[in-house]
Order: sequence, then C-alpha cells, then structure tokens
Amino acid sequence: MKTYITSEHQQAAVAALKRLVAHPSNLEAAAPGAPFGKPIRAALDEMMALCSELGFKTYTDPDGNYGYAEVGSGDKIFGIIGHVDVVPAGDVADWSTDPFNATVKDGVIYGRGVQDDKGPSVAALYAVKALMDAGVTFKERIRFIFGTDEETLWRGIKVYQEKEAPITHGIAPDSEFPVTYAEKGLQQSYFVGPGTSDFTLKMTNAFNAVPAKASYNGPKLAEVKQALSDFGFAFETSDDGITVTGKSVHAMLAPTGTNAVLRLAMALDKVFPDGPMSLIGQCFKEDATGVNLLGNVEDEASGHLTINISNIEVSEKETRMQVDMRIPVTVDHDQLIDQLSQRIAEYGYQYEDFDYLAPLYVPTDSDLVQKLMATYRDVTGDTTEPQVSGGATYARTMNQCVAFGAMLPGVPDYMHQVDEQWELDKMFKAMTIYAEAIKRLTTE
Ligand SMILES: [Zn+2]
Repeated sequence: MKTYITSEHQQAAVAALKRLVAHPSNLEAAAPGAPFGKPIRAALDEMMALCSELGFKTYTDPDGNYGYAEVGSGDKIFGIIGHVDVVPAGDVADWSTDPFNATVKDGVIYGRGVQDDKGPSVAALYAVKALMDAGVTFKERIRFIFGTDEETLWRGIKVYQEKEAPITHGIAPDSEFPVTYAEKGLQQSYFVGPGTSDFTLKMTNAFNAVPAKASYNGPKLAEVKQALSDFGFAFETSDDGITVTGKSVHAMLAPTGTNAVLRLAMALDKVFPDGPMSLIGQCFKEDATGVNLLGNVEDEASGHLTINISNIEVSEKETRMQVDMRIPVTVDHDQLIDQLSQRIAEYGYQYEDFDYLAPLYVPTDSDLVQKLMATYRDVTGDTTEPQVSGGATYARTMNQCVAFGAMLPGVPDYMHQVDEQWELDKMFKAMTIYAEAIKRLTTE
C-alpha cells in the first residue's frame, strides 16, 4: 500500500519530538497561566508553535489548561487527543542518556515522553501533515487536542470539555495498536470502618498497584505468624517483626497478583476475630474479582470487575481501606456502588468516594472501530483483535473516541520507565497507519 509518509516527514517528526522532549513537563507548582507548573506550559506552547509552523490554526487556553490545533473544514470534528505532560524522570543518573535531550542511537530514540505521549502525538501530527502535503481534502475538521495533566488528575482536559466544542469522533494515540474500544469504569474509593485497640496498621501504598509487601510488628506476633503459616502465606521475619510477601501487578490485573496486605488482614482477623478485619477475613478474602463481596459482576464487552484493596490503616479511631475498582463498561455504576455500600455496612464500613472516571465503550461494529481495524490490518497484515483495557486514556473523555496506537504489538513498554525509548522504524510505521486511518475517516 502507498504511504503518504516521506523520509522528510520522518526526519521532521524526529526533530519535533526532540523539541518537545526538551521540556521536563512533569507536574510542578502552579504559576500564572500555568496551572500545572511552568514546564508543562512551556511544552504546551512548544506543541502549539509546532502545529502552527505546520499550517494548523491553533488556540491555547489563556489559563494554560489545554490547547488545540485544527485543519480542514466542515461541521464534524475528528479529534486526536494527546497530552504534553510526562511523569518525572526519576534519578537522572539511572538513565544512559539525558532524559530531556532526546538522543537517537542505532535507530532508537531515547528520552522521557518518547512513548508517552510526545512521540505518539508527533507521529499523528506528521501523519496529518503528510496528508496535507499530498493535497488531500478533508471533509471535516481535524482537531488535535492536547491535555496538560494526564499523568495526574485530568483537570486540564475537563476545562476543555466545559469550554470547547465536543468532537464528533476521534482517537487517542496514547496506548497500543490495534484499537482499544472499551476501557472499564475506574472508581477509587475508601471503605471507612471502626477502629480497634487490639493493634494498629500504617502503610502508604498507591491505589493502582497490588501491594507486594505488608509489614506487622504488633501484639500477638507469634499468633499472627502461626495464622499466616496455617494459610500457607509467605512472609519474612526480621528484627522489625514480619513482612508478608506477595506479587505486585497493576491494579487492572489485580486477580493475577498476590496481595500481601489482604493476606496480612486475613491473618489478623484470625488472631483478633470480630474486629475490623472481618470484612476481609470473613467476606472479601483474596478474591480481586469481588465475587465474595458482590457476586459475579462481568459483561461480554469488557470482562470481569476487578477490585484492588491496596492499603489498610488501622487506628483506635478508625479503619481505612483504599480501594481501586475497574468496572465493566455496561454495568450500572450507581447501582453497583449502592450494592457495595450495603454489603460493607454489614461489617460496619461506610463507602467514601474519592475519584471516578466513566468508562469508554465504542462497539466493535461501529464505523469508527471498523475503519481503524481495517486500516491497521491493511497496513500491517496483523490480525490481532480489538482490545479491552482496565487502564485509562483520554479517549474516555470524548465522544465516540477510542485509543489507537501508537505502540505496535511486541514493542517493549517503556512508558514511565528509566531509558524510555522507541524504535524509529516502529514510530514511522505508526505514522503510516495514522495517515491512512485519518484519510479514510475524514475524506470518504
Ligand atoms: Zn499517556
């Protein structure tokens, strides 16, 4: 198949990516016009400058929450949704290159953001540029929309939704090929229950990971060890008491991990029965699909509910459990939360909302998914089926929008990691796919 991408487009895309990577755009303190810090604002301005140089009309929110760039005309808007922020580089000494000076070595580009999401954004941008250069006439407006705090709380894109025109359909190049047509609802919450004077627990674990360690050094330590052994749960002993060990995985894959915090809670429930750990010991146990708590919650489109209880703090005053749930796309959220609230109330707990992201679901027989899948197959010859994810991309913030690329199957995932890198051949392949897909969706 003919590609619109020339080697000039490829080289220009790499040069543009270098310009963007040069801004260490992780979340910092707010400044005027820069709600998420000056480096993110600078990256947004750089992106808008690039788009403008390519011939797009641009608009930057004066408060610095978002920007967009448009080409073409018509009532419909085809949205391409990316983000200019990155996660911190961590200890720069761990990198083999300067994370903010993108470096090409042996056909691979290294730097923070080359996979997530500056590289994919640039790949899509130069794909459209290639169509423009080929004289393609768009029957609708193509609008690139850039958010600014995707790696944290999505406040920037929310301001876009409040102030700007909704898209008609679109893609988020911030995931994998082929198409992710369903992303589960993402609910983070707390279960808050009675405290106890029997023991205390303190820990600080993230919502979105299954904890691989849980330490205890309190009363009845010998009995707790015995209970762990009776369950067959692994733990290590040291001068500081014991550490239950498990296996960490992302919260969206919770049923495949081993949750050390739950295992400790089950042992504590045995040693201190009828206390605040009963909810875990007598009900939830280790089942991260939540069947013991809620029965079978699943749908055909997106699979099973997952529940990750990653943090349990116990004081004399209260017990607080931190909960991350990935809810199947066709399940009624409010009804599920009602059911959950009633169930945990049986153990003296109250439900407390923290953050909710509604699901994404664009059926596989929709025009959008059909055309994206056909393009992907035509360009690559790969027959991988469309995907479901427990993760979250900006696609879910927009109308008729799915995640599409830019990582090809088999490309190692370096997002958020040291030595973040992307093979240029793979990036160029993504550009070819984007150009063909965007042409089919906006000119036919
Ligand atoms: Zn991203």
